[in-house]
Amino acid sequence: MTDTLTPSTPPSTAPSVTQERRIVTAIPGPRSVELQQRRLATVSGGVGSALPVYIVKAHGAIVVDVDGNQFIDLGAGIGVTTIGHTEASVVAAAVGQAEDFIHTLFTVTPYEEYVRVCELLAEHTPGDFAKKSVLINSGAEAVENGVKIARKFTGRRAVAVLDHAYHGRTVLTMAMNYKAMPYATGYGPLASDVYHVPSSYPYHDGLSGADAAARTIAYLDKVIGASDLACLVVEPIQGEGGFMVAAEGYFTALQDWCTANGVVMIADEIQSGMARTGAYYASEHFGWVPDLVLTAKGIAGGFPLAAVTGRAEIMDASQTGGLGGTFGGNPVSCAAAIAVFEAIEANNLLAEGQRIEKTLRAGLGKLQDKYDIIGDIRGRGAMIAIELVQPGTGATTKVANAAAVNSIAAYAAQHGVLLLTAGTYGNVLRFLPSLAVTDALLLDALSVIDDAIAAL
Ligand SMILES: *Cc1c(COP(=O)(O)O)cnc(C)c1O
Repeated sequence: MTDTLTPSTPPSTAPSVTQERRIVTAIPGPRSVELQQRRLATVSGGVGSALPVYIVKAHGAIVVDVDGNQFIDLGAGIGVTTIGHTEASVVAAAVGQAEDFIHTLFTVTPYEEYVRVCELLAEHTPGDFAKKSVLINSGAEAVENGVKIARKFTGRRAVAVLDHAYHGRTVLTMAMNYKAMPYATGYGPLASDVYHVPSSYPYHDGLSGADAAARTIAYLDKVIGASDLACLVVEPIQGEGGFMVAAEGYFTALQDWCTANGVVMIADEIQSGMARTGAYYASEHFGWVPDLVLTAKGIAGGFPLAAVTGRAEIMDASQTGGLGGTFGGNPVSCAAAIAVFEAIEANNLLAEGQRIEKTLRAGLGKLQDKYDIIGDIRGRGAMIAIELVQPGTGATTKVANAAAVNSIAAYAAQHGVLLLTAGTYGNVLRFLPSLAVTDALLLDALSVIDDAIAAL
């Protein structure tokens, strides 16, 4: 064969998505209702959907449904399309890679893209030391591998996690979550040797970082014992739990204790990493350098990819063949991830996270002055939440107001704003927009939320 194969990339003829909110039918619209009926017949009832509008197109910070409604996306697929939906360089990298080759399996015949992603992770994760990575497919798989790697390195059994944590839905990780419902209820027996210890939740516990760390360490010491503890897994900003930001000095005190006791401290940065918070990794906000860092969600612009990255001596403790998996580090996902790292640099996206925090804090602060149900505003960068409490009690009892959260999210959806809920007690609204969201879209969304609270 002498023919040169010419990959054909037809120019997209689809109209581009205007960056504006537009509601043209009831929500959900008639075509979404039809699709929902088909779904009910064949999709497991165990799979939920926050808002059953079926999406046909998305770009930047806007998603478009089958009925032509356009939503301001303040969820980004739970922090996945961090640099924006269908970002042009990510699309081009993925299309180009798909034309070259889609799969070989790195553990059979390797390729450069996998190596390049590991180089970028070594460069951008916290810490100035030799680092190595393994690539896998999902956040939960990253958590599972982090635990395996720490156990192999330490020769110890126990895994500690913080109150209000969320780490996934696999058989190991469901035992690592704070909430039994819906993640673990009825799915037992749960994995053994997983211990839940108190966290730092300044809005409720009022503890300094040093005091909260002393309380956590007391549990680690008494309930588990350092000599049996392989790893402490923590989210630098807790995601599903409600975007709790630990008190200053909390993580560094825990890291010091872990280092002194031979325990591997793992940052689950699956939601908070990859430029989400105005830094590459949220650990940086706390001056914390973890032993291992878990990356997933935002790393590949929407393609499935995850990583465990950390100290070379810990990552190399595993026997050859002990880590990996068929789809781990898929070439298309890796090509997309490389494009994401390049876009963060080229477009100075850390500054976009900082801009979004400023705009959200200003707007939400005004709403807090106006409405006494907004108890706390917290988070970093494009990872900001408000905790809603019962009216009149905000300053004193801080009683959860999940009903308000659900009403506001429902009202927002009806008016073209896709807003996610969170929180152990279901009383947190989280703002997790893509870094492509403009201030104009954020202000528009905030005005809808203002109306939603007024309508309660
Ligand atoms: C989403 C998430 C996970 C699980 O990731 P999956 O890709 O859904 O398996 C784990 N930890 C945190 C902090 C997360 O936000």
